[in-house]
Amino acid sequence: MTEFSALKNLSARVGADPLLVQAAGGNTSLKHEGVMWIKASGTWLGDAASKDIFVPLNHSALLAALAKSDPACEACTDFVVADLNATGLRPSIETTVHALMPQRVVVHVHCVNTIAWAVRSDAEQQLAGKLRDFNWAFIPYARPGLPLANAISARLNPGVDVLVLGNHGVVVAAETVVEAEALLDRVVKTLARPVRAAVPPDLAALHLLCEGTDYAPAESNETHALATDAFALERGKNSVFYPDHVVFLGVGVATEIESEAALVALPGKGVLIRKGAKPAIEPMGRCLADVMRRVEAEDPLTALNAEAIDRLVNWDAEKYRQGLNVGT
Ligand SMILES: [Zn+2]
Repeated sequence: MTEFSALKNLSARVGADPLLVQAAGGNTSLKHEGVMWIKASGTWLGDAASKDIFVPLNHSALLAALAKSDPACEACTDFVVADLNATGLRPSIETTVHALMPQRVVVHVHCVNTIAWAVRSDAEQQLAGKLRDFNWAFIPYARPGLPLANAISARLNPGVDVLVLGNHGVVVAAETVVEAEALLDRVVKTLARPVRAAVPPDLAALHLLCEGTDYAPAESNETHALATDAFALERGKNSVFYPDHVVFLGVGVATEIESEAALVALPGKGVLIRKGAKPAIEPMGRCLADVMRRVEAEDPLTALNAEAIDRLVNWDAEKYRQGLNVGT
C-alpha cells in the first residue's frame, strides 16, 4: 500500500471517531516529491477512503510565502498545483499548520479530550506536566490562516512533533503514516480525562414539544447530554470555546424552540435539531457536550472573546468553507 492510501485510510478512521473529528473539522496531509497533499476545505475526513478529497500544493512556494507573511497564505489557493488538482477544490483553511511542520505526515484533529485541556486558562501549565515525555509546543489561540501560522512559527523548535492549539485541538507529525497514528494514539491516551456519564433524554417530552414544529430530537444520547448534563449547558450556553462551535452553531447555545436555532438544548430534557439543518449541526452539538462532560466545576475556562469571534466568522476562507456545507 502506498503512503497516500495509508493516509486516506487513517483519515477515514479518525474521521469516523466523534471524539477526534466532527463534521468537516480536522485535516491530514502528506508531503511527497515537493507536493503537499492536504484535505480540501469543507470536505469530511470520514469520506477520505471513498472520495477524492485531497488537494495538491507546491510546498516550497507556500513555505517561501509564509516566511514573508504573504497574504496569499490566508486561503493558499495560489499554491495549488492545478494540473494535479482533479477535484478543483480549495485546500483546507488550516493548510499553513501542515506546511510549517517539516515532517512528511501531519494529522490535525479536534480531539475532545485535548480540547477539554485546551480551553483552560492554565492549559499550558497543566499540559506541561502531562506531556513531559513528548517533544511538544503549546500554541496560544490564533485564527487559522496567517495568524495561526505566525503563532506556530514563534514556538516551533526543531524536533517538535506535537502541537496543542489553545482553544482548538491537537496536531501530530511524523515521517510515516504508521508513526503519526501511533503518536496520535499516545497523545490522546495521555490527555484522556474522566468523563461524566451521558444522562439519557426525556424522549416522550421532546416528541410532545416537537409536534407541529420544524424540530426533531437529536439522534444520540451524547448529543442530548448537552441539555441533560446541567453543568455542560451551564458552562457552554453563553460561550464560544473553540472555532468550529461559533462557525456552525453561532454564539452560545439556544435553549428555546422560539429561537428557531438549528440546535436547541432544552434544559433537563434533551436536544432538538431543526429539520433540514446542515449535517454538521448535531456533531457540533455533541462535540460541545463531549468536551463539557470532561470539564469540572472548578476548572478555570477561557472562551474566545468578541474580537476573536468576529475575525473568524468574517474571514473569507471560512465563509467559503461554510458555503460548501450548505445542504442536507
Ligand atoms: Zn482545526
